[in-house]
Amino acid sequence: MATMLDRSAVQSSQNVWEMAQQQLDDVAALIHLNPSVHAYLREPKRVLHVSIPVRMDNGTFAIFTGYRVQHNMSRGPAKGGIRFHPDVTLDEVKALAMWMTWKCALVNIPFGGAKGGVICDPKAMSMQELENLTRRYTSEISIVIGPEKDIPAPDVYTTPQIMAWIMDTFSMQQGYSVPGVVTGKPLSIGGSLGRDKATARGCLYVVEEALRVLEMPPQGARVAIQGFGNAGLHAADLMAMRGFRIVAVSDTRGGVANPKGLDVRGLIAHKSDTGSVAGFSGGEAITNRDVLECDCDVLVPAALEKVITGDNAGRIRAKIVAEAANGPTLPEADAILHERGVMVLPDILANAGGVTVSYFEWVQDLQENFWEEEEINDRLRRKMVRAFRDTYELASKRNVDMRRGAYAVAVSRVAEATTVRGLYP
Ligand code: GLU
Repeated sequence: MATMLDRSAVQSSQNVWEMAQQQLDDVAALIHLNPSVHAYLREPKRVLHVSIPVRMDNGTFAIFTGYRVQHNMSRGPAKGGIRFHPDVTLDEVKALAMWMTWKCALVNIPFGGAKGGVICDPKAMSMQELENLTRRYTSEISIVIGPEKDIPAPDVYTTPQIMAWIMDTFSMQQGYSVPGVVTGKPLSIGGSLGRDKATARGCLYVVEEALRVLEMPPQGARVAIQGFGNAGLHAADLMAMRGFRIVAVSDTRGGVANPKGLDVRGLIAHKSDTGSVAGFSGGEAITNRDVLECDCDVLVPAALEKVITGDNAGRIRAKIVAEAANGPTLPEADAILHERGVMVLPDILANAGGVTVSYFEWVQDLQENFWEEEEINDRLRRKMVRAFRDTYELASKRNVDMRRGAYAVAVSRVAEATTVRGLYP
């Protein structure tokens, strides 16, 4: 796939599941994690592997492979998105599920962690084929999902329309509408105001907190963003509206940079016309990889995993790295950035706005009572600021980086729930 991010060029070979386990191991000693609880939390609770036969437009059947992994449910039903991408692997889905457990615990919402993935290339499929794939995948995983059990949501290359098909398929099987089975739905069937921009908005709130503690002025702060999907696009837009200067953006096909600041609304129109930010006339061309190293104050990796490595961490010029993507920074790069005084706002903090508003959506669905957008954004801000402060306080007290701080808060909460529930039988 020529248009996909060239992983070989920018990503390390460390296995992403080992990376997730290593991040847990790194914090175990710091919080004196009970070794049995540690061993339990190192593995997913359940892994479902499904084969998905799909009728294609040319009349043939194609068999796709999909997964749903539930990492932990000690604090509540499992929660996490579904990714449609050609490079999905079981190890990736396991890592993403584990990160969801920590993320939900860090923002203190009553969910465990899960993730789904289907190995497919949605950019090369028709709407009908995508619908067929989504419905059959939903049917296959329907044995493990449900509003009290496990609630999917959007992730890379999955949309509100896809969530609507999931909701409809599950509801048809039950014989009545079950909006609470999935979040990130269209508003017309029980979606929440503010959910589409929630990941970006949450990221903005924690970046503002970070600028405050680092005593850097937000006005004119220079931001570079890798990835221009749901997270990256809305982050650019919201941050520009707050007076930040967006100096570089990129997507799988290329990027554009302008030290004086890009016209973000023009950029969004260009992306919607051409499918990419590449070729936008308001700046110079820059590669998806070079965006990471450009001269800026805040770097927002908002694409895929493992892009900040031992190789390029030394060249990152930002003072703050806000991980809108899941898993963009390898442990070896974390150490380098920490030593260089770069504050990394880890994924489980920086992109937790999405799942936080997913929680609000689920609560609204269960109560059949819907809130104003102002109330949602206000509740989101309070959750994010609280999670930032919990993290910052612990990181400062123990003299560790923000990832370890966030993990210490989150893993302790999950461990406490696991311990107090005790072992069955
Ligand atoms: N996929 C998003 C994440 O990685 C959102 C998950 C959700 O809303 O459940 O956090």
